[in-house]
Amino acid sequence: MANERVLVAFRLLASSPLAIGPNGSPVDSAGLPVIRGGTIKGAVRRLTSQLATALGDAPCTGDGSPTCRICRLFGAPGLEAALRWSDALAVRDVVRVDGPSRPANILTGLRSRQPVDRARRTNEGQARIQHIVTTPGLVFEARVEGWIPSNQESEPRQTIGLLVGALRSLRHLGGGQSIGCGAVEVDVTAIRIGDAQYSGDEMVSTLSAVGAVS
Ligand SMILES: [Zn+2]
Repeated sequence: MANERVLVAFRLLASSPLAIGPNGSPVDSAGLPVIRGGTIKGAVRRLTSQLATALGDAPCTGDGSPTCRICRLFGAPGLEAALRWSDALAVRDVVRVDGPSRPANILTGLRSRQPVDRARRTNEGQARIQHIVTTPGLVFEARVEGWIPSNQESEPRQTIGLLVGALRSLRHLGGGQSIGCGAVEVDVTAIRIGDAQYSGDEMVSTLSAVGAVS
């Protein structure tokens, strides 16, 4: 069985602030926030799994069955993932590092929320949860790459079509949705399968041909 090398590169626009937790966020060498690859992978796995089920795959139970392409792509206990996800790094020419949103100010937003004691229906005595949030409008770049088995000629394209369809439907990432955080949009910028390059529209049309997406 041959394997095809695949790469999907994308930009992720965080149109609202991203909540990066009370304990600080990973930052890169310039002090800009980083979205961990595992965070993106988890969100995209759920969407890819929904799309694959719509396409007629048996629902993924996460058991690492070799017949489950979600487990093959994203991994499962005892099964190594076919694809590796890079961290998403903030794009420097979009963030004005020397301007008003220089790194020192990017992470200083704080939003807080008072949790309600569900039993007593009151928030007395509950500590406020504080989220450190990023400036809205940050753009990040990331990539996912690996090897996909190709026992049929159409298989890598259909599998990457699922992944691209899921990436393009990603609308939320990370915590803090209740405080207006985490709205994202994804623009797929490059797709390579073996030596061939594809557009996002070409990939997603592989799916609409079989009725998975409209
Ligand atoms: Zn599975």
